[in-house]
Amino acid sequence: MRIVISVDMEGIGGIVDRVQLMPGERLYQESRKYMVAEMKTVVRSVWAHGATEVVVNDSHDGMLNLGWSELEDLPRGTQLISGTGKRLSMGQGFPGSGAVMFVGYHARAGTAHAIMDHTYSGDIHHLTLNGQEVGETGLNAYLAGFYGVPVALVTGDQALVAEARALLPDVEAVTTKEALGRRSAVLPSPAELADQLDAAAGRAMDRLTAGRGPSPVVLAGPIDLEVGFMTTQAADTALLMPGTHRVDGRTVAATLPTVEAAFFAFRALLVLGGGTPLY
Ligand SMILES: [Zn+2]
Repeated sequence: MRIVISVDMEGIGGIVDRVQLMPGERLYQESRKYMVAEMKTVVRSVWAHGATEVVVNDSHDGMLNLGWSELEDLPRGTQLISGTGKRLSMGQGFPGSGAVMFVGYHARAGTAHAIMDHTYSGDIHHLTLNGQEVGETGLNAYLAGFYGVPVALVTGDQALVAEARALLPDVEAVTTKEALGRRSAVLPSPAELADQLDAAAGRAMDRLTAGRGPSPVVLAGPIDLEVGFMTTQAADTALLMPGTHRVDGRTVAATLPTVEAAFFAFRALLVLGGGTPLY
């Protein structure tokens, strides 16, 4: 069974602030070690519980956070999707997989008590699909569902776990930290968290191989996509995309035939309306 592990950074244990998240920032290299450690724990557990192919997709910022050398002490056959400009972005590799796992994910924009809550960039106030507000977890879960692929594991702070469980009641989940606000959290010990990640990834695999895994979440088209930007200026330029209309000063909408098309449209609107990320 092919497993794709999409690894973001905001939800990794030990990370609470922007200075830990951006390449070049003061604490980035230290927190990158936490990201690598969690990725390796999940990869090893997945191999040990019946995976036949394991693909790690670097899903944070410019997607150059995990290095090739990190694969050296992992089982042969582990692959890394590295670098930016990927058509499916955080969802690269999903088609054809047996299941996907979201490691180090974070709550959507506007969530209280959530480390670095945002939706793809600091330019986005909200994102809805057929009236349902989603963040990166929801959008990528529906994208996986479009390809017939379930989400088997999510990890992140307690707000991320609550958001994921609302959409994916059957998913295995690990709470990596308890957020006190947007930039502070109570952290467990690294060893304790590693044990939980190892166990949850193993449980997820055991359920999948026994045919008791979660079902894909499928959102049938057509899809009404609504993107609320932080500023009217962002909406001005996003509206250059054919087929869009303005809902209000900051909100742009379009109707797309499928979730995959809505995913591409959202990312196109982000490029058109995007400025400096605030996360
Ligand atoms: Zn990120």
